[in-house]
Amino acid sequence: MSHKVTLIPGDGIGPEVSQATVRILEATGVKFEWESFAVGADAFEKHGEYIPKEVIESIERTHVGLKGPVTTPVGGGFSSINVALRQKFELYANFRPIRNLPHIPTRYPDVDLIIVRENTESLYSGLEHEVVPGVVESLKIITEKASTRIAKFAFEYARKNQRKKIHAIHKANIMKLSDGLFLRCCRTVAKGFPEITYGEHIVDNTCMQLVMNPYQYDMLVMENLYGDIISDLCAAFVGGLGFVPSANLGDHCAIFEAVHGSAPDIAGKNIANPTALLRSGLLMLRHLGEFDASTQIRNALEKVYRHPEKLTKDIPGGQAGTSQFADAVIEEMEKAKTASV
Ligand code: ATP
Repeated sequence: MSHKVTLIPGDGIGPEVSQATVRILEATGVKFEWESFAVGADAFEKHGEYIPKEVIESIERTHVGLKGPVTTPVGGGFSSINVALRQKFELYANFRPIRNLPHIPTRYPDVDLIIVRENTESLYSGLEHEVVPGVVESLKIITEKASTRIAKFAFEYARKNQRKKIHAIHKANIMKLSDGLFLRCCRTVAKGFPEITYGEHIVDNTCMQLVMNPYQYDMLVMENLYGDIISDLCAAFVGGLGFVPSANLGDHCAIFEAVHGSAPDIAGKNIANPTALLRSGLLMLRHLGEFDASTQIRNALEKVYRHPEKLTKDIPGGQAGTSQFADAVIEEMEKAKTASV
């Protein structure tokens, strides 16, 4: 059986990390039928649309996407394609596990944190307009429906996966109505999960607490913008943005993508670390029920990470390019297959 997957290689470092990831996923022996599309500025140049309708139709058909980063222009230009896709397919839960990989030197060992980010509303929606020249309004919309839905997602995940503790992250001391509503929804949902300890921390304090002692947290649930910022902070615990995967999950579709952006500073140089997208691919394999393939890649990664010279340059001692790193992972997978025959 083969899996139909919509592939969006993206731009910046997207094509490089996507190519490496696809090669490694295919080396497992799992069959994929990739439906590959450009979105964003590249698509606009070719088709006059930022998200061509073929992309939407493909995701409606496959229900699963693997997506590289897509550049969002800063301070003007078109709206975020990433946000548009999450909203279009109601991918309301952004699931971001923050875990160390063996043998990678990091600031903290054995971090195992899960960030659950609400993905469809809040300030991150970019609902803005200029009221009069020199005055801009940006809308933060928080609803009971979306807040309850994300809190349920977090608590249900915790129950299924034996997680012990959830903190809701907020700024309800200042945004009393919007973040206040978010907190009320989390508290109501928490009552149905008495075995899970529930806590609340203010977002600025959370940043300090995380850096002081990340082990005090288990799972964090928060609205969209706080999730964006806290995720990058937490990426630093496990080696940086080259390592953190994510799954955008809805009731009907799922899109898997790295937490990092298109990293224009290193694009086109064959130096980006594809691990974050690859780990997103592992989340996708498990979503597709391909558990053995996911273990195969995980074991190979573990072996490759013992050799700093085979790693990309964002890792201390790393000397390899993006594609050489992929070659090394595939080589380990092949060795393991030969050994088991
Ligand atoms: P966005 O807001 O679009 O998510 P960002 O502001 O988080 O983007 P990135 O494009 O992710 O910014 O890049 C931030 C820094 O991390 C850059 O210096 C970039 O080179 C580095 N970086 C990001 N991804 C990787 C990667 N896969 N491998 C190595 N370095 C990376």
